[in-house]
Amino acid sequence: MQDSLRSELIKQFPAEVVEVTEKNGKKYYACPTCKRAVAVGDDKCSGCGQSLGWDNIRKEEMANGSKTALLEFEVGSDFVPGDCRRCPLSYIAKVNSENVYECPLKMRAHCKLKLS
Ligand SMILES: [Zn+2]
Repeated sequence: MQDSLRSELIKQFPAEVVEVTEKNGKKYYACPTCKRAVAVGDDKCSGCGQSLGWDNIRKEEMANGSKTALLEFEVGSDFVPGDCRRCPLSYIAKVNSENVYECPLKMRAHCKLKLS
Protein backbone atom coordinates (compact mmCIF):
# COMPACT_ATOMS: atom_id res chain seq x y z
CA MET A 1 0.00 0.00 0.00
CA GLN A 2 1.26 3.46 -0.80
CA ASP A 3 2.27 5.52 2.21
CA SER A 4 0.05 8.43 1.23
CA LEU A 5 -2.94 6.13 0.84
CA ARG A 6 -2.20 4.48 4.16
CA SER A 7 -2.00 7.83 5.98
CA GLU A 8 -5.31 8.84 4.37
CA LEU A 9 -6.87 5.63 5.67
CA ILE A 10 -5.46 6.15 9.16
CA LYS A 11 -7.06 9.61 9.22
CA GLN A 12 -10.48 7.95 8.86
CA PHE A 13 -10.12 6.69 12.42
CA PRO A 14 -10.89 9.37 14.98
CA ALA A 15 -7.88 10.61 16.90
CA GLU A 16 -8.36 12.44 20.18
CA VAL A 17 -7.98 16.18 19.93
CA VAL A 18 -5.30 17.87 21.98
CA GLU A 19 -6.08 20.68 24.40
CA VAL A 20 -3.12 23.01 24.15
CA THR A 21 -2.40 25.49 26.91
CA GLU A 22 -0.30 28.40 25.78
CA LYS A 23 2.14 30.15 28.09
CA ASN A 24 -0.33 32.99 28.65
CA GLY A 25 -2.92 30.48 29.87
CA LYS A 26 -5.03 30.63 26.72
CA LYS A 27 -6.42 27.25 25.74
CA TYR A 28 -7.37 25.92 22.39
CA TYR A 29 -8.03 22.58 20.76
CA ALA A 30 -5.69 21.25 18.12
CA CYS A 31 -5.66 18.47 15.57
CA PRO A 32 -3.37 15.67 16.89
CA THR A 33 -2.01 15.07 13.40
CA CYS A 34 -1.16 18.52 12.04
CA LYS A 35 -1.49 20.60 15.25
CA ARG A 36 -3.76 23.15 13.60
CA ALA A 37 -6.41 24.68 15.82
CA VAL A 38 -9.84 23.09 15.43
CA ALA A 39 -13.26 24.35 16.50
CA VAL A 40 -14.97 22.62 19.43
CA GLY A 41 -17.06 19.72 18.17
CA ASP A 42 -15.50 19.47 14.73
CA ASP A 43 -15.53 15.87 13.57
CA LYS A 44 -12.86 16.46 10.97
CA CYS A 45 -9.77 18.65 10.78
CA SER A 46 -10.19 21.17 7.99
CA GLY A 47 -6.43 21.25 7.55
CA CYS A 48 -5.45 17.62 7.01
CA GLY A 49 -8.74 15.69 7.02
CA GLN A 50 -8.00 13.83 10.26
CA SER A 51 -11.16 12.49 11.93
CA LEU A 52 -11.37 13.93 15.42
CA GLY A 53 -12.51 12.35 18.67
CA TRP A 54 -13.61 14.37 21.70
CA ASP A 55 -13.96 11.69 24.37
CA ASN A 56 -10.47 11.66 25.88
CA ILE A 57 -8.99 15.05 25.17
CA ARG A 58 -5.25 15.03 25.60
CA LYS A 59 -3.67 17.95 27.39
CA GLU A 60 -0.44 19.52 26.31
CA GLU A 61 1.43 22.46 27.71
CA MET A 62 2.96 24.67 25.11
CA ALA A 63 6.08 26.59 25.99
CA ASN A 64 6.25 28.98 23.07
CA GLY A 65 6.50 26.00 20.75
CA SER A 66 9.91 24.87 21.95
CA LYS A 67 11.69 23.21 24.81
CA THR A 68 15.23 23.48 26.06
CA ALA A 69 17.59 20.55 25.70
CA LEU A 70 20.74 20.27 27.74
CA LEU A 71 23.64 18.05 26.85
CA GLU A 72 26.89 17.64 28.73
CA PHE A 73 30.03 16.51 27.02
CA GLU A 74 33.76 16.88 27.46
CA VAL A 75 35.92 19.33 25.58
CA GLY A 76 39.65 19.92 25.78
CA SER A 77 40.85 22.17 28.58
CA ASP A 78 41.96 24.74 26.01
CA PHE A 79 38.57 24.86 24.33
CA VAL A 80 36.84 28.24 24.20
CA PRO A 81 33.22 28.75 23.05
CA GLY A 82 33.14 29.43 19.33
CA ASP A 83 36.18 27.26 18.64
CA CYS A 84 34.27 24.99 16.26
CA ARG A 85 37.47 23.29 15.15
CA ARG A 86 37.92 21.74 18.60
CA CYS A 87 34.23 21.20 19.33
CA PRO A 88 33.05 17.57 19.23
CA LEU A 89 29.68 18.69 17.88
CA SER A 90 31.05 20.33 14.77
CA TYR A 91 31.14 18.63 11.43
CA ILE A 92 33.03 19.37 8.26
CA ALA A 93 31.07 21.07 5.52
CA LYS A 94 32.12 22.36 2.15
CA VAL A 95 31.69 26.07 1.53
CA ASN A 96 32.93 27.36 -1.83
CA SER A 97 34.80 24.03 -2.19
CA GLU A 98 36.67 24.70 1.05
CA ASN A 99 36.33 22.56 4.15
CA VAL A 100 34.94 24.46 7.12
CA TYR A 101 33.91 23.32 10.58
CA GLU A 102 30.18 23.80 10.72
CA CYS A 103 28.02 23.95 13.85
CA PRO A 104 24.97 21.64 13.81
CA LEU A 105 23.16 24.24 15.94
CA LYS A 106 24.17 27.10 13.61
CA MET A 107 25.77 28.99 16.49
CA ARG A 108 29.32 29.40 15.17
CA ALA A 109 30.50 32.80 16.45
CA HIS A 110 27.41 33.02 18.70
CA CYS A 111 28.41 29.84 20.53
CA LYS A 112 26.24 29.31 23.62
CA LEU A 113 28.24 26.52 25.18
CA LYS A 114 28.85 27.04 28.88
CA LEU A 115 32.03 25.63 30.34
CA SER A 116 32.41 24.40 33.87
ZN1 LIG B 1 -5.16 18.18 10.99
